[in-house]
Amino acid sequence: MNLSRRSARPVLSTHNVHEVGIMESALALVARHAAGHGDRRVSRVVLRIGALAGVEIESLCFAFGVVSRGTVAEGADFEIEEVPVAVYCHGCHLEFAVETGGFIFTCPNCGDLCGEIRRGRELELSRIEMT
Ligand SMILES: [Zn+2]
Repeated sequence: MNLSRRSARPVLSTHNVHEVGIMESALALVARHAAGHGDRRVSRVVLRIGALAGVEIESLCFAFGVVSRGTVAEGADFEIEEVPVAVYCHGCHLEFAVETGGFIFTCPNCGDLCGEIRRGRELELSRIEMT
């Protein structure tokens, strides 16, 4: 993208402001990590995002391109590990995956109603690779 005739930063629309904030926090961590390793350049950043984290993957990728500019992570590969939702049943101790969000799920094994979400809310830095 050639931005030479436009402002230094593209204008952010309101729908991805949330993701930009997340990316700013993540890249602050990345920068601190790189500084601790002699300011080496970062070649890959991997975030772990749960299906219930309330984050739009596409917006997050866009945010990475914008926020990483001028940082040690500029030009690095950006990857997302998506974590599916897993619910725990206290009735039969089964942990099962669900496709969609929600608060109450029916156990596929015993039919109990379960509300304990064990995975799917992750929003964390998974891995940083440096050259
Ligand atoms: Zn069950």
